[in-house]
Amino acid sequence: MARVLIAEMQQETSTFNPHLTQYEDFRIERGAAILDELRGTNTEIAGALDVFAEHGDVEIVPTFAAWAVPHGPVADPVLDRLIQEILDDVERNRDVDAVLLVLHGAMASETEFDPEGRLLEAVRACVGAIPIVASLDFHAVITDRMLQFADMLVGYHTYPHTDFYETGVRAARNLMRMLIDNATPTTARVCLPLMARGDELLTATGRFGDAIGMCQALEESPGGLAANIYLSNPFTDVPDLQSYVIVSTDGDEARAKAEAERIATFMWENRDLWLAELTPLPEAVAQAKETPGLTLFSDAADATSSGAPGDSNAVLKELLAQDYAGRALIPLIDAPAVAAAFDAGVGSTITLPLGGTMDPGRHTPVTVTAYVKSLHDGEFAYENGVIEQAGRTAVLAIGNIVVLTTERLILFVGRRVFQAFGLEPQDFSIVVAKSPNGFRTWYESIAARIVHLDSPGSASLNLEALPYTHCVRPIFPLDENVVAALRAG
Ligand SMILES: [Zn+2]
Repeated sequence: MARVLIAEMQQETSTFNPHLTQYEDFRIERGAAILDELRGTNTEIAGALDVFAEHGDVEIVPTFAAWAVPHGPVADPVLDRLIQEILDDVERNRDVDAVLLVLHGAMASETEFDPEGRLLEAVRACVGAIPIVASLDFHAVITDRMLQFADMLVGYHTYPHTDFYETGVRAARNLMRMLIDNATPTTARVCLPLMARGDELLTATGRFGDAIGMCQALEESPGGLAANIYLSNPFTDVPDLQSYVIVSTDGDEARAKAEAERIATFMWENRDLWLAELTPLPEAVAQAKETPGLTLFSDAADATSSGAPGDSNAVLKELLAQDYAGRALIPLIDAPAVAAAFDAGVGSTITLPLGGTMDPGRHTPVTVTAYVKSLHDGEFAYENGVIEQAGRTAVLAIGNIVVLTTERLILFVGRRVFQAFGLEPQDFSIVVAKSPNGFRTWYESIAARIVHLDSPGSASLNLEALPYTHCVRPIFPLDENVVAALRAG
């Protein structure tokens, strides 16, 4: 009977978001409740549980799971507390046979640029030389510490990310290979001075899918354990921010290096494809006007899924300025507006400032007169089955523009977040998703047009507009004539 300890610590940080992430922003589960909550969902832990169940002789030691919507840097004391809570559990169970850590990889605190590396180092110090595998988002920033203290890193293979479950399966299978088959991972890394965005990264249709295909072919071949391209979250401005190709084989160092260099060369040679094409707001609204059916606006600059605060009213302002006549649906995080709507009650008409409550350097409030259409407690389920608490939630109608206003930070990627509050995206001519590409899974089948906005925000795809101070330089596309070594180490 092998005992496998499971812990999760996931948050994606946008260091350009001025709001810190606090302890209460994390959804936290402890012990057996983790299994009750996540079994059967599209999550890494659910995938891992199924692999361990297949083996039959694995005892799972669920300890601590913390997950937060991407946001600003984690407050230093909050990171200390999260890591300590995991370590307390690891300490109590240091006789386990293996550890699976479910991480994001692009987390940062106020002063710690590598929380995942710090956690891995501390867990390793506690449990010694047993297998430790970490699963990661493919926007992870890979550090020396992460590579040194984990036996293997296993990241997503899809963009938009849909393979959370499958990544858990791959991570758990690698753990079992080490435990049962005595696999000995040998890992090679190639650093790519590159930040990538844009439609060619869509793994189902874009050129990047070919690179992922190379990773998958390696993993499916004998002796191939894990192959990943980590594009790093471009909004986590930390010293190791660039892209990475990481390949692990079962003891074959030369092959790991050769494969990592081959995949990295493909990524570098195609770098001009990894740029986003953006449309200025006035032009985007004009395009929506001439489009019959639904136009989906991707407001990636304010994507809460990328760590932005979700308080941008840039689209609302443009629609009001153009006196847009169609029906538009806009999500907004604005706790004061929600409070005003609850004070006034359903059926009231109120005049209030809307938006621009969290990132005053990039967004300012706009005063509107709104009808309070409905009020909610904010509990709903995302498409992957995970329950979310939006806090108090108000649906406000400003003429033909409907604004879904929440108190708490949530994701505005899919359709459920609207449907849960009585709003059907298909009934609108413009719907705003605060998401760079994840929305495609839910909107491609119903949108007549998709427009990537060039709008202000701390997660702008117009990377040149962001105030980078820490990332690797020179780096593509911020700098000219960048040279990549493309050598595995
Ligand atoms: Zn990601």
